[in-house]
Amino acid sequence: MKINWERERQMNKPILVTQATIPEFEEYIEEIKDIWQSHWLSNMGVKHNLLEEQLKEYLDIEHLVLCTNGHTALEMALQAFGLAGEVITTPFTFASTTHAIVRCNLTPVFCDINPETFTIDADKIEDLITEKTSAIVPVHVYGNICEVEKINTIAQKYNLKVIYDAAHAMGVKYKDRGIGSYGDASIFSFHATKVFNTIEGGAVCCRDKEIYNKICSLKNFGMDTSGRVIDVGGNAKMNEFQAAMGICNLKHIQENIYKRGLVIRRYRHALANIDGIELPVEQNNIKRNFAYMPIRVIQGKYGMCRDELCSVLEKANIFPRKYFYPLTSQFECYQQRFPVQYTPSALKIAEEVITLPLYPDLPLETVDFICDIIKRK
Ligand SMILES: *Cc1c(COP(=O)(O)O)cnc(C)c1O
Repeated sequence: MKINWERERQMNKPILVTQATIPEFEEYIEEIKDIWQSHWLSNMGVKHNLLEEQLKEYLDIEHLVLCTNGHTALEMALQAFGLAGEVITTPFTFASTTHAIVRCNLTPVFCDINPETFTIDADKIEDLITEKTSAIVPVHVYGNICEVEKINTIAQKYNLKVIYDAAHAMGVKYKDRGIGSYGDASIFSFHATKVFNTIEGGAVCCRDKEIYNKICSLKNFGMDTSGRVIDVGGNAKMNEFQAAMGICNLKHIQENIYKRGLVIRRYRHALANIDGIELPVEQNNIKRNFAYMPIRVIQGKYGMCRDELCSVLEKANIFPRKYFYPLTSQFECYQQRFPVQYTPSALKIAEEVITLPLYPDLPLETVDFICDIIKRK
């Protein structure tokens, strides 16, 4: 049956910012059948190992460790490098990035962002380095990539580790290299709301074989392959059902990214040349994944502030997200805990940004409908 989307919308079906990508029901059932034969549900089973191999190839990286989710992947990557002291990072990100740093007993030092790409402003990192700095944790926010070369130069000069939060950057390539191959390590999120999902899930990739071994042990209570407990680890093993979902979804990722690209193209076309609506820059030299559709609402020029536009859209049953607002440095739980650096660009953008609904099956007519509201037709 062909769904009449326009009618669905009129029947008050809310349009959410995202919708999880799932395979056909039968496809998933077929994939999990062997699990009933093997009774092997977790602990690096067949599905887990197969997905790891497939992802290494897809992401074009050497070492990859699957985890329960992106957050534990980040905590374990930070722990594996034995970092101490201060970590330079961005406040314009999801709670996870800053929480992982703080939960690993490190102090976040917030660096401002580049107002065009929303990623950490590499030119401002050096000023924040002290004798306590041990690492840089930048975020490839919205799938926009950081200035990886500049960051690498700084890291070399001051002997710092670079761990990228690549939660948004699944499938992104820069200069023909998988984005996960830059820096000392990168983490991906395979949460339901991300470009590619394993229901919940994530991965760390890294260059160094020893770090790889360490993360494999950390995700399994700190046990090495012979069962000796060599580290104070946690439990972040991806189970077989998650991995099976990943195996199915990976088969369709190319098509899904293509469809996301069509939605974004439609948005960009419809929203071009509206006073006070700024579209994100499109980066060169990168293979994009079309993860998000952020726009900036410039109050003085648009005549309405971001929050007002959000309310107008919500009245029409459309639910964009104020993503990322507030900055993580403004979270209640961080008040008075450590000095917070002044990050004017990040503050401003957090007040102006909304991410519009985007998923592969979002009908283009719905995109037009959303854009008409923004255009105030
Ligand atoms: C989603 C996300 C994470 C955490 O990933 P989970 O898989 O949800 O644990 C980390 N960082 C950023 C920037 C994210 O968007």
